[in-house]
Amino acid sequence: MLGPDRAGAAGLKPRNRPARLRVGTLVRAPFSWIRPEPWGIHIVPADAWVDPSRPVPRALVTHGHADHARAGHGETIATPATLAIMALRYGTGEGAVPAAYGETIALGGGVAATFLPAGHVLGSAQILLEHAGERVIITGDYKRSPDPTCAPFALTPCDLLITEATFGLPVFTHPPIAGEIAKLLEARAENPDSCILVGAYALGKAQRVIAELRAAGHADTIWLHGAMAAMCRLYEEHGVALGDLRLVSDAPSKEALRGAIVIAPPAALNDRWSRRLPDPVTAMASGWMRVRQRARQRGVELPLVISDHADWGELTGTIAEVNPAETWITHGREEALLRWCALTQRRARALALVGYEDEDD
Ligand SMILES: [Zn+2]
Ligand SMILES: [Zn+2]
Repeated sequence: MLGPDRAGAAGLKPRNRPARLRVGTLVRAPFSWIRPEPWGIHIVPADAWVDPSRPVPRALVTHGHADHARAGHGETIATPATLAIMALRYGTGEGAVPAAYGETIALGGGVAATFLPAGHVLGSAQILLEHAGERVIITGDYKRSPDPTCAPFALTPCDLLITEATFGLPVFTHPPIAGEIAKLLEARAENPDSCILVGAYALGKAQRVIAELRAAGHADTIWLHGAMAAMCRLYEEHGVALGDLRLVSDAPSKEALRGAIVIAPPAALNDRWSRRLPDPVTAMASGWMRVRQRARQRGVELPLVISDHADWGELTGTIAEVNPAETWITHGREEALLRWCALTQRRARALALVGYEDEDD
């Protein structure tokens, strides 16, 4: 029987579990051509891997964060922006095969792959795999809330949805970003003699915070830690305008940074580097800032709940909207989402992939 949630799913017809396919005299189980291994998802007939955590002859990479994109593969198929990010961060380049959003690539073995926007960071993709009449989507990391720095998540029907679960607990609700940016601008107005130091990951979060500050009317110079510069430049080269950015190391004096907003990697918040700043108020932009203890541990005075991942509502809402015959859950807190699937009469299982840390919360 279908649960109420499932019956009401966003106008998409419930997809029935595909019938067992008859291949010659063999009867094949659904999705048996997709094999989750601890170090990645194996597309068996094409002998290719999605986001493998060890070097393989052929990899499909969803996006540039370190836990998904690794150096050392023979061939790397990814969006042009992800390939550019990988070249910048890991010096990869050989064997790069660009896949534009929406372009279908024949992988061999009767498998077709299409990269679709995931709304996570610049270049991020869900990967649609089609084989023997079955459609499988691997979301990679994704979010549904708007982000001026990347293409929005493309909701796509499939039979098997392999979803991330980084924030897979009901306690994780990400508020609208405009309110968090307003808090940041208020703190700046209230502390004209200090600077506001914002910890943000160098790939994705930093550029999103800058773009949202610009959208909120903040036109002043934003000062960067040196580790942010190259990635911001790459975003600008891909058409994401970030306004006037300068390096803290190029500031004429400490005084010049009073009243300024400074963006640095989280690791720099409490290290020697920050001593060059005038009485910084420490902020941090992360989905984990929902957990007060995490903010306290890092000495964060101004926690900003800004995440590039789906929150609980987006994770469950997306499964309900896509309404696949089966859901595989990976990369985070699988148990609660697994239980939610059971309660809403959805077929689901948790995968045990290793090596995916939350670099990119
Ligand atoms: Zn990521
Ligand atoms: Zn990730």
